[in-house]
Amino acid sequence: MIVGAGFAGSVLAERLARGLNKRVLVVERRAHIGGNAYDHHDRHGILVHRYGPHIFHTNSAEIFDYLSQFTEWRQYQHRVKACVDGRLVPIPINLDTVNQLYGLRLDPEGMRAYLAKVAEPRPEVKTSEDVVVKGVGRELYEKFFRGYTRKQWGLDPSELDAQVTARVPLRFNRDDRYFTDTHQAMPARGFTHLFENMLDHPNIKVMLNTDYREVRHEIEYGALIFTGPVDEFFDHRFGRLPYRCLEFRHETHFKPVFQSAPVINYPNEYAYTRVTEFKYLTGQEHPHTSVVYEYPRADGDPYYPIPRPDNAALYKRYQELAEQTPDVHFVGRLATYRYYNMDQVVGQALTLFGKIAGLSRADALAAAAVAT
Ligand code: FAD
Ligand code: UDP
Repeated sequence: MIVGAGFAGSVLAERLARGLNKRVLVVERRAHIGGNAYDHHDRHGILVHRYGPHIFHTNSAEIFDYLSQFTEWRQYQHRVKACVDGRLVPIPINLDTVNQLYGLRLDPEGMRAYLAKVAEPRPEVKTSEDVVVKGVGRELYEKFFRGYTRKQWGLDPSELDAQVTARVPLRFNRDDRYFTDTHQAMPARGFTHLFENMLDHPNIKVMLNTDYREVRHEIEYGALIFTGPVDEFFDHRFGRLPYRCLEFRHETHFKPVFQSAPVINYPNEYAYTRVTEFKYLTGQEHPHTSVVYEYPRADGDPYYPIPRPDNAALYKRYQELAEQTPDVHFVGRLATYRYYNMDQVVGQALTLFGKIAGLSRADALAAAAVAT
């Protein structure tokens, strides 16, 4: 039995069914497959991501090849602008960001010299504040990172591990792409279509609208794979692991284009963090356009583990318990309390499959990539 039909659950269902000829039951409490990567056509016929923008990117050829069995791709390089001081400038911060913001004409060397003057020395980089002020100094930190992070996480960057803001690089050239991975693409017919293909096997049964807790005593199974929140599995016995929640406000506008970039970040104004216009991501042609606003919340569905030391310590206690629980495997962003992208979750699931099948990680990846 597999709990959750997101990337973690669906990859394992596919691998166990096709690779080991196991019979798999996937139980999913939502009304659809795909987890947070779920997309669908809204009532105006525009393909939207219900749970916020999902852009696939990876440096792993094996993971890309594996997923390519279930979808064709649309090449897509993601670009984001931040609204700062009334202007829309590129984020990650690059040469153009600094020049546009300060009316300068620096070249890459000039930008290095400029930032060297304003950057604050931090012998030890521990927090999300350290990463940014060490790279770009306090002023740019305050313009681009402090407000956004406080909104997104309900915490100051100084209270979050370095890995959070370290996701956003600093560039001394004019490259304004959000990611630089070797593979960057969107599933040509959407993520849900990819999941449908992955789960399309006679050995796989999917039960939607079903919480694992409702059926756990009704169904006999050999082993369990759990991809929901790990603390929930153990009835929060050591206390609740904090997850950051989001509320999504979807809107359709009756004009072809709404904003000048696929995503616009609002670090300093408004209660929302960013606005995404889906047609840029999907390439869909349509006379109207749909967008989503993201409002961070303390309560609601869990979306993000919150990387900070006390949470890591609490997770460790659950992890130890998980390791001592026979015939249950924990995998995915919520079950292993890791701020993972989709490709990392796919990699983690393939590694677990290898372990179950008695293969090395390399052999599991190679087998998965030539599976069908
Ligand atoms: P999920 O997708 O959360 O799937 C877990 C599933 O388990 C859910 O469907 C849930 O309903 C189900 N479940 C939980 N508990 C139970 C239960 N008790 N019974 C039954 N079912 C249960 N990654 C990228 O690579 N690129 C991006 O651009 C990107 N953008 C993102 C934007 C946002 C706003 C968010 C929140 C995440 C983004 N991610 C992105 C991360 C990506 O969503 C995750 O890495 C990936 O979806 C995690 O897959 P998963 O299977 O671990 O978890
Ligand atoms: N961040 C920020 N300002 C930005 C973009 C990102 O402060 O304009 C910080 C913020 O803390 C955010 C983190 O960097 O949560 C990671 O950004 P990313 O875009 O990777 O977030 P995700 O897409 O995972 O929500």
